[in-house]
Amino acid sequence: MDRRRFLAATAAVTAAQKPALAAGLPDVVVAGAGAFGGWTALVLRERGYKVTLLDAYGVGNSRASSGDESRHLRAGYDDRAVYSGWAFRAMAEWKSREQEFGKKLMYPAPRLQMAGSLTKALSAQRAIFDELKIPYEILGQDDLRRRYPQINFDDIGTAFVETPTSSAVLKARESVVAVADRFAAKGGTVRIAQAKPGAVAGRTLADLDLGRNGRLSASLFVFACGPWLPKLFPQILGRKISSPRRELYYWGVPAGDTRFNWPNLPTWSDDVLGNYGFPNFDRGVKVAPPHAGLFQQDPDEDERVPSAYLMRRAREWVARRFPGMADMPILESRICQVETTANGDFIIDRHPDFDNVWIVGGGSGHGFKHGPLIGGYVADRVLGSMGDPELARLFALAGRGDI
Ligand SMILES: Cc1cc2nc3c(=O)[nH]c(=O)nc-3n(C[C@H](O)[C@H](O)[C@H](O)COP(=O)(O)OP(=O)(O)OC[C@H]3O[C@@H](n4cnc5c(N)ncnc54)[C@H](O)[C@@H]3O)c2cc1C
Repeated sequence: MDRRRFLAATAAVTAAQKPALAAGLPDVVVAGAGAFGGWTALVLRERGYKVTLLDAYGVGNSRASSGDESRHLRAGYDDRAVYSGWAFRAMAEWKSREQEFGKKLMYPAPRLQMAGSLTKALSAQRAIFDELKIPYEILGQDDLRRRYPQINFDDIGTAFVETPTSSAVLKARESVVAVADRFAAKGGTVRIAQAKPGAVAGRTLADLDLGRNGRLSASLFVFACGPWLPKLFPQILGRKISSPRRELYYWGVPAGDTRFNWPNLPTWSDDVLGNYGFPNFDRGVKVAPPHAGLFQQDPDEDERVPSAYLMRRAREWVARRFPGMADMPILESRICQVETTANGDFIIDRHPDFDNVWIVGGGSGHGFKHGPLIGGYVADRVLGSMGDPELARLFALAGRGDI
């Protein structure tokens, strides 16, 4: 999809006529208050609907994929132009929402994609940046050494450098809390409750079973339950979404040393040794080691304790790439699950068995940044607008491969 068509498709996120839903009921219930559900609930509320936002463990909880401290916003997506365009537009949305919320949530920072040489994927990305007019640089080893003397580039031949125009660190947990707060301030209802599909009448879901919290009826239901989606809908999603475990560490910096702090250190992805991460804000330098195998993580049951093996690998990486941090300690860790689809495309589609149930998920390790646009896109779709057919196909359940 080219940029013009993409912008036209996503610009449809405007105040559409409010379609009538069944009278006397909460119009919409959104289950799941992570990035996807929270933004969806906020936009629906802004369009005048009565919306209840449910979360089994509460907004910004530590089990959720959106519950970590930080997530990256970057337009670099190799050859996947649609997501580059979305990310670039999302940055403008984040900026304006930040002002509206009165809270600093986004920290612009360059991104170094370190490689041995310019790969096919990076060349494709360069063509997309040129087309979308997103600034970037491609630097060789000497320039990298001069610009970032705190990084060891011995085995790095080149880096694609995304600028702060399209790359930033987002405060993840704080953002989902800010979105839910704004939603509540605008008249939305936020509740802690675990939702399961309840009574059914033909192709209509009549209500939700909230277990100890009773039942809840509505006209329309959106399930934005991230890695929990395959547990909720095993028949249709059991083979479409997997939830591999990831470990993240927050690494200590030397006392009085600001070389590894934002904005002195960029964000990075290291395609040579395999690693990505962010500079220190307050919790430490965030280091994500390459994952070991595809261990599935049960988002409800599994313990969030880091493994000795990955800690060792991360420590080796830190010592090699950031020699000035070689002896520093791990300060904190997060164990997260990436709810991933076979091709990394989101799932935004109606449940095949119900006319009034939507599934919104499949963030696939890159969904957080798109939250504000996803909210608008989902609101359009669930309220009856098809939008761009190519986007609808990209996010459709039908025709999608198994994981
Ligand atoms: C390690 C890691 C790194 C990532 N890095 C990035 C990045 O740098 N940039 C980026 O853009 N994206 C990144 N992502 C992806 C991004 O975090 C996710 O795509 C996004 O947070 C998903 O949001 P979500 O709302 O779909 O799911 P979640 O945030 O998991 O939210 C789902 C919510 O549903 C609730 N819930 C579950 N079941 C029920 C139920 N039955 N009833 C009610 N509530 C329920 C849960 O409590 C949870 O709060 C990363 C993901 C991981 C795991």
